[in-house]
Amino acid sequence: MAKMSPEQKTLQEDMAPGSLTLDGFLGDDPRSIEEIIREDETFLQREGVEIKDIVMALKAFTFKGVEGLGDPVPVGDYEVSVEHFRGWQYCPFKHKKKVSKRNTKLVDKRTGKELYWSDLSLHLIEAHGFFQGKGAHFRMEPETILEVLRLEKSESEE
Ligand SMILES: [Zn+2]
Repeated sequence: MAKMSPEQKTLQEDMAPGSLTLDGFLGDDPRSIEEIIREDETFLQREGVEIKDIVMALKAFTFKGVEGLGDPVPVGDYEVSVEHFRGWQYCPFKHKKKVSKRNTKLVDKRTGKELYWSDLSLHLIEAHGFFQGKGAHFRMEPETILEVLRLEKSESEE
């Protein structure tokens, strides 16, 4: 692991299990937060898919799922359910961002694959390019996201 500044070290500690959240954001990933961000970024650049397109698609599913009030809502090839809890979650990157505690589960009925995210996951991806560490409860594997959402290199860039 590369040398960390004091700020990076505090961030790394805050993201560990039991600090800000029970499960933490890093799972059992031995990499630093910067390395995790960089490697996922490199993968997405290679695939030619932008983070904003991923976040837009995921948000749209959460939006549709909310209508089910906890029950699964059919959306094309998918089924989406949203669970809402009381209270707030705070962004571990410390810029006073808080989001509601809301979790979305998306099931791809064609493949049986699932994606699971919280509103905080979406914020971490959108604002920080952080998909969380491998093994973290809310880690989203960019490869799985592209597969489930069927996102590909946009035509205009070819
Ligand atoms: Zn943030």
